[in-house]
Amino acid sequence: MFDVVIVGGGLAGWRTAENLRRQEFTGSIAMVSDEAPGPYDRPPLSKQILSGKLTLADISLAKDDAFSAADVTWVTESAISLDVAAKTISLASGESLTGSSIVIATGTRARRLPFSAMDDCYVVRTAADASSLRQRLTAGGSPARVVVIGGGFIGAEVATAAHQLGHDVIVLEGQVRPLEGALGTTVATWLEPLAASAGVDLRVNQLVSDVRAHADGALDVVTGAGSLIADIVVVGAGAVVSTEWLQSSGLDISSGVAVDGYLRAAPGIYAAGDVARFWYRGEQARIEHWQIANDHAAYIAQHLTGRTTDEFSTLAYFWSDQYGAKIQMLGHPHRDDEVELASGSLEERKWVAHYRRGGDLTGVIALNNPRELILSRNLF
Ligand SMILES: Cc1cc2nc3c(=O)[nH]c(=O)nc-3n(C[C@H](O)[C@H](O)[C@H](O)COP(=O)(O)OP(=O)(O)OC[C@H]3O[C@@H](n4cnc5c(N)ncnc54)[C@H](O)[C@@H]3O)c2cc1C
Repeated sequence: MFDVVIVGGGLAGWRTAENLRRQEFTGSIAMVSDEAPGPYDRPPLSKQILSGKLTLADISLAKDDAFSAADVTWVTESAISLDVAAKTISLASGESLTGSSIVIATGTRARRLPFSAMDDCYVVRTAADASSLRQRLTAGGSPARVVVIGGGFIGAEVATAAHQLGHDVIVLEGQVRPLEGALGTTVATWLEPLAASAGVDLRVNQLVSDVRAHADGALDVVTGAGSLIADIVVVGAGAVVSTEWLQSSGLDISSGVAVDGYLRAAPGIYAAGDVARFWYRGEQARIEHWQIANDHAAYIAQHLTGRTTDEFSTLAYFWSDQYGAKIQMLGHPHRDDEVELASGSLEERKWVAHYRRGGDLTGVIALNNPRELILSRNLF
C-alpha cells in the first residue's frame, strides 16, 4: 500500500512526485511507467534530438540526484486496469498496487495509420522513436527523400530537422492548409508560406491512402494524385489518448479522463496532463501542452497536501519551433474565433495576433515575437 500511486512516468506524473516532495510530503510514492528510461522531456524530441543539438541524457527530467531526492518507487510496467473503489491498479505482470490516492498521467501515444508498411514508417512520440529516426537520418552519406505525412506541429518540426540535416523533404498535408484545425483559417494562412521559405516542399490536399514497401527498401506513398517514392516516411498524424486501461473502471473516459474543478475523476483519484479532460475557463478541454501538464502536477500536489482548496485555473501556453520560426500562443481559442493582427507585419514575419469571441480575448499568438507574447499575459 502506497500513499500515492502515479500511473505514467512522463512530465505530468514526474512533476507531481517532485511537487509533492517540494510540499514536504513524506508519504510513500510509487510511479508506474511502461517506458523504461526515467522521466524525460518530449518537446526536444522533434527538435533538438533530431537535429543533434541535444542528447537523450540532456532531456532527462531527473538529472543528477533528482531521482533519488524524489524518493519514488519506480515500477517499469503497464497498468491494465483500475479498481476505483479500492484504488487498486492491476499491472500486466499480474501484480497490483494500491494507493490512498491515485494520479492518472498516462498521456497520449502517436496515432498509427492503417498503411500496409506502417511498421517501416517512423513516428515521434518517445525517446526511442526520436533516437531511431535520428539514427536513420544520419546513417547515409547522401541526402534521402523524406516524406512527412501530416503538416501539424510535430510534422513541421520533424520536416525542419530533416531539412537541416540536408535531406529533401516533402510534407503531405491532407487538409487545405496545415494547422487550420488548431489555429483557424486566418492564422493558418499566414503561417503556410513558412515551409517553402525554409526549403521544405509542402503539398496540401494530399490524402495518403497507403504506404507500401518496395523490395529495395524504398517506400511508395500513395495519394489521390499518384504515388511518391520515399527513402524515409514519418507519420505525424496526431495523438491517441492512453485510456484503454481504464475501460472497465467506470470513469468517464470519452475523449480523455473527465475531471472536476479539482482535477479529480473520483474521490482520491486525480488526472493530469495530456490525458485529462478538465475545466478550462468554463469549457471542458483536453489540452496537449507541456505547460498544462506542469500546472496540473503542481496543483495536484497542493490539493493533495491540503495547501489549496481553490479550483484549478491556468492560462494555457504553447510553443512550436518550425521552419526557422517560433510560434507561441497564450489561451485556448476556437478555430472560428475572430482574428486581428495586433502588431508587426506578415512581410516581416514578426507579428502578434489576437483571437476574440463575442468581443472577449480568447487567445494571443505570436510569430517570432516572444517579448510581446509575454507582455500579452496582462491582457487576460
Ligand atoms: C515530439 C513532441 C514534441 C512536443 N513539443 C511540444 C512543444 O513544442 N510545446 C508544447 O507545449 N508541448 C509539446 N509537446 C507536448 C508535451 O510534450 C506534452 O503535453 C507532455 O509530454 C504531456 O505530458 P504527460 O505526462 O501528460 O504525458 P506523456 O509525456 O505522454 O507521459 C505519459 C507516460 O505514461 C506512459 N503510459 C501510458 N499508458 C500507460 C500504462 N497503461 N501504464 C504505464 N504507463 C503508461 C507513457 O508511456 C508515457 O511515458 C510535444 C510532444 C511531443 C511528443
